[in-house]
Amino acid sequence: MDAGLFGGTFNPLHNGHLGIIKYVKQVFGLQKIFLFPSATPPHKCVTKVAPARDRMEMVKVGVEELDGFYASDIELKRKGPSFTIDTIEAFKNGNHKSDLFKKAHDPQLNFFLLMGSDAFFDITTWKKQELIFKAIPIIVMLRGNRTGIEPIASFIDEYISKGYKLNKKQARFTHKQLQPVHICNVPKIDISSTMIRARVKENRPIKGLVPVNVENIIKKKDLYK
Ligand code: ATP
Repeated sequence: MDAGLFGGTFNPLHNGHLGIIKYVKQVFGLQKIFLFPSATPPHKCVTKVAPARDRMEMVKVGVEELDGFYASDIELKRKGPSFTIDTIEAFKNGNHKSDLFKKAHDPQLNFFLLMGSDAFFDITTWKKQELIFKAIPIIVMLRGNRTGIEPIASFIDEYISKGYKLNKKQARFTHKQLQPVHICNVPKIDISSTMIRARVKENRPIKGLVPVNVENIIKKKDLYK
């Protein structure tokens, strides 16, 4: 059974996140997708980020009515900055303290790491990125204007490994020693967390841009003012 791991700051979770992962779930036949908010995002300016427990709550309520989607607090249970390789290993070993995850865990799951193309182009700054390519197949979701497979091909060739070979028809890079990298042309959804925070700050509506339950939490907790 195949499952996706989708990490993010989720500051907040929005309908862009949900739209693209619903699409990937269907196209790749994934049974489950786990969304794990990052506790202390190593790449983002921490002062602008809502508390981890609020972001977690938004992810939890945002997926609770969706079949096959699960919120995971795995990175909140770990101390220190959140590094994706540690999370991948923990999911694969079923070895962590997340109660939310235990409910949905199944030792038969084959995991794929889902990420937007902007996050993928940033991967060389991640801790032990070479281990990520050994540990798990990746699905890169092409975001916004960075469409087309060529920029990804040049990036992989220059920064990841010259051993990756592109199969254009299958939109997949394969390697003799490393895990494949799949490319998915997700529907273009022009929503970002930055846009949501800006709209909230300017008292503009966010209806339809985030799930209703997420909007309620933003209002109740007075986030992003
Ligand atoms: P911010 O605007 O604060 O930078 P974000 O909307 O990019 O946030 P993150 O939580 O950082 O959200 O994103 C998690 C992942 O989701 C990243 O890999 C990002 O590329 C991807 N992503 C977010 N929104 C979209 C979207 N509208 N289309 C495609 N990918 C997206």
